[in-house]
Amino acid sequence: MRQSHPSHPSHERTLAIIKPDGIERSLIGEIIQRYERIGLKLVGVKMLVPTADLIEKHYTMDSEWLLKTGLKAIKGYEDKGLKPPISDPMKVSEKVLKNLVKYMTSGPVVAMVWQGAHAVQIVRKLTGSTEPLMSDVGTIRGDYVLDSYQMSDHDNRAVRNLVHASGSIKEAKDEISHWFKPEEVIDYNLYEEHIMYDVNMKGILE
Ligand code: ADP
Ligand code: MG
Repeated sequence: MRQSHPSHPSHERTLAIIKPDGIERSLIGEIIQRYERIGLKLVGVKMLVPTADLIEKHYTMDSEWLLKTGLKAIKGYEDKGLKPPISDPMKVSEKVLKNLVKYMTSGPVVAMVWQGAHAVQIVRKLTGSTEPLMSDVGTIRGDYVLDSYQMSDHDNRAVRNLVHASGSIKEAKDEISHWFKPEEVIDYNLYEEHIMYDVNMKGILE
């Protein structure tokens, strides 16, 4: 029997966005393959050049994002035994937001909705942590890019890390409806879902 009810955990959805540096480096296929090969299903996809307003709202919908991002940047320096250039987390993230808008509106992006069991956590795991210098080997940010907070601060720009991925189920819900109309996200079945989610596996023997 298929577990096909929309409340089943296999229906969890998340938003991932290939950022302009990912597009310019011809990494669309590579990145999609990483999410696809684990068994996630692409249920929405589009290419667009985002407006500043779309990006600003995307990051400030979560009222805690400014504080969390500022604290993460400061910790990023402290964990390496370095002194952060700015010590007030809100000042750090104000600057990050300004530079992020520049980065994310500098060219086309590919916005995607991925569906599957634990989609939010799985996509975050495959994407890797925010600062590519510290992202694990095997993740997208760990394998394809070498940026750091030190570099981006030195050059007064956002950290280039190829992809965005929603950080929680709540963030994913808000972000999907920010980027996609309901009819742009499509329900369909993948053959391999039988193998991943059916309660009783059918044998392959004739
Ligand atoms: P994530 O994308 O891993 O969820 P955040 O939500 O904290 O990370 O930040 C959004 C994006 O802003 C990051 O992916 C990165 O491009 C940029 N960014 C975050 N922190 C910094 C920072 N301290 N300096 C420069 N850019 C940053
Ligand atoms: Mg985030």
